[in-house]
Amino acid sequence: AELNEAEILARNYVQKVFESVIKRNPFENEFHQAVKEILDSLVPVMAKHPKYMKNGILERIVEPERMVSFRVPWVDDQGKVQVNRGFRVQFNSAIGPYKGGLRFHPSVNASIIKFLGFEQTLKNSLTGQPIGGGKGGSDFDPKGKSDGEVMRFTQSFMTELYKYIGPDSDVPAGDIGVGAREIGFMFGQYKKLHGGHPSGVLTGKGLLYGGSLVRTEATGYGAVYFVNEMLKSKGLSFEGSTVVVSGSGNVAIYAIQKAAQLGATVVACSDSNGYIYDKDGIKLETVQRLKEVERSRISEYVKEHPGAIYIEGCENIWSIACDIALPCATQNEIDEAAAHTLVLNGVKAVGEGANMPSSLEAIDVFLKNDVLFGPAKAANAGGVAVSALEMAQNSMRYSWTFHEVDDKLHVIMKNIYRNSVEAAEEYGHPGNLVVGANIAGFIKVADSMLAHGII
Ligand code: GLU
Repeated sequence: AELNEAEILARNYVQKVFESVIKRNPFENEFHQAVKEILDSLVPVMAKHPKYMKNGILERIVEPERMVSFRVPWVDDQGKVQVNRGFRVQFNSAIGPYKGGLRFHPSVNASIIKFLGFEQTLKNSLTGQPIGGGKGGSDFDPKGKSDGEVMRFTQSFMTELYKYIGPDSDVPAGDIGVGAREIGFMFGQYKKLHGGHPSGVLTGKGLLYGGSLVRTEATGYGAVYFVNEMLKSKGLSFEGSTVVVSGSGNVAIYAIQKAAQLGATVVACSDSNGYIYDKDGIKLETVQRLKEVERSRISEYVKEHPGAIYIEGCENIWSIACDIALPCATQNEIDEAAAHTLVLNGVKAVGEGANMPSSLEAIDVFLKNDVLFGPAKAANAGGVAVSALEMAQNSMRYSWTFHEVDDKLHVIMKNIYRNSVEAAEEYGHPGNLVVGANIAGFIKVADSMLAHGII
């Protein structure tokens, strides 16, 4: 009875905080969604430890420490002036400098940046490394832009972002639309404005100028390592399984590579126009060349591999029967209906390579049907984890070998899995890694905030 009372109090507190978030951030649906998922799973923590309620931890943790938005003017190839909007949210620095990627995509707005920044705060905590949470980006659309346009935009973006970042304060990296080329241009501009060679200000840098081995592969590899731990707990494995991966960017490509190395057949992947289905297994070299070198569309794949088919529109990729689904494209790509279809077709595990690719309703469907579900902030944490290793190497002015970094990544993913499983169990939701990852990530940030006083 005592616990019930505590639980009711906790539930009311969480509800009150959630309502204030909606009120203070009107129309920001993605941010509301991320906050709802996280706060709901913290109810048992609030019930067990009233110290968090007394000290206003939730009220503070949902409010970014700082958020800047700025004008990004640039000149296109026709000589026309274009204006985009840039953002950086410095969400939480309780456990380390702000850390998180930059996203260049037309959908970017304050809501998207805040949902990503909040997720990042708990994800970074889960990695076990000393990094706080941040995120940024712009509504600039790199699709169809020339190298020169991307460079001019990116330089203008950094000319403003420069004022807010630094190796010990805020360290951006890539995300959707920001890869090696963009990080290179941004590092060049930062270096020019700052002087010297401030290596640690960005991660995901090229290997020639301070980048880390395995950073490119880290998010995709890490997601597969994580799913592998989930599978092992049920005596399953990638060997002989059929896998569907959405997306064809940096996360998807290395998830496909690692899944195939572990003996899976990856039969589909996608871009924002449509998806390809290749029943014999996707030829990764073709996808990599098309997307990374030629920067063209995934539809071109079928010209080289006539056994494969291309389907316009990407929603139906989840109607392909598979054992393991790895959504590696973007937020809310799996809705309730898609989740039902996956379950009907016998999916055994879902690992989120993208950030928040499953809607709240979809997650419910997976959990209720006992599908092994690896939530984004745990499953895709390998990218930012290796970013933290890149910062460590930059500080040491030293580089680890591929094998050394890959081993560390492997250990980190196993720890994230174990900590999430244990937290879920301790707080009464055995097997629910959504709850487990949220709680394990939260406690470290919350206890650091308590240690720092009301700030
Ligand atoms: N954008 C990635 C993420 O969502 C990586 C961020 C980083 O390396 O800082 O976690």
